[in-house]
Amino acid sequence: MSSPNFVIPKTQHAAIVESTGAPLKIKSDHPVKQPADLLPGECLVRLDCSGVCHTDLHAAKGDWPIKAKLPLIGGHEGVGIVVAIGAHTQGSPVKLGERVGIKWLAYSCLDCEMCRKGLEQSCLNGQYSGFSVDGTFSQYVVSWVSHVTPIPENLPSTEAASILCAGVTVYRALKNSNTHIGDWVVLPGAGGGLGHLAVQYASAMGLRVVAIDTGAEKRDLCLKLGAEVFIDFRETKDLVKDIKAATDGLGPHAAVVTAATSQAYKQAIDYLRMGGTLVVVGLPAKASLDADIFFTVTKSINIVGSYVGNRQDAREALDIASRGKVKCFYVVKPLSALAETYEGLEQGTVVGRVVLNMQN
Ligand SMILES: [Zn+2]
Ligand SMILES: [Zn+2]
Repeated sequence: MSSPNFVIPKTQHAAIVESTGAPLKIKSDHPVKQPADLLPGECLVRLDCSGVCHTDLHAAKGDWPIKAKLPLIGGHEGVGIVVAIGAHTQGSPVKLGERVGIKWLAYSCLDCEMCRKGLEQSCLNGQYSGFSVDGTFSQYVVSWVSHVTPIPENLPSTEAASILCAGVTVYRALKNSNTHIGDWVVLPGAGGGLGHLAVQYASAMGLRVVAIDTGAEKRDLCLKLGAEVFIDFRETKDLVKDIKAATDGLGPHAAVVTAATSQAYKQAIDYLRMGGTLVVVGLPAKASLDADIFFTVTKSINIVGSYVGNRQDAREALDIASRGKVKCFYVVKPLSALAETYEGLEQGTVVGRVVLNMQN
């Protein structure tokens, strides 16, 4: 069934990667899956916008041990309206006309051990938006009613977009950090896309934030967003010493590391408090975790991998944002700006997030 309020076109604009590492092609005649062709459980979403994530660049370049489908439409921070639901879909949690989000985890079976334990992002039968199935760099996307995320009414689509990946990822990582209200958390890269959201979620959770980044602009941003201490990694002579000095001399209770360099992980083992937790986030192309075994053992350090979040994490992360506790810094650009955005991500010149407007 499809919404009477929308005319669903036969074709659409979409950004397509035809082969690994090939330049992006913006097509204006990419087919739209028609409502009659949707399978039970599938829905068609007319996208308002989509955030751009570093993961999209890794997928397009074939950086990881697991390869994306080809040809590929990337994107996994999409927000739009459900305009059609497959016939014979039973008990859909979303309705026609409802605004929903598309996140990295597009589908999970809800029945394997991982799914039953709430770890559906590691489902044995998972599908991933903009990786194993086409994503949100298009005007229409096919997804699953059981996995699209309802967007709170008062949260504009462009503000919700980057919460769906960057926000959920750092929120879940903080939940995995074994911290309690009043504990210290160190956030390397705190002025970046993930980092600036992590500062806000951590503050909302009652944690005390030590932000690590560089430059006056990022310092001001981090302090404004709730960090108690800012350490400029280019100015400090001894980062580990400065972090310890800022956190009662004992070091922080947790570090949430989104950086792609092994150096950041190595340092975390040095500065963490006894019994502290290192949360490993982000999916760099090629990097390994070089933890000092002696100090990991004698300091009783917990090392925890944290991979995006489940459906409940997504709802919670959006709810916190809708109540004004977390705001993403972003600029809105047209779909045609995707290639230059990838270049910017590669050079590290993108401040905050880029959100693409999908309807013009
Ligand atoms: Zn992402
Ligand atoms: Zn499963």
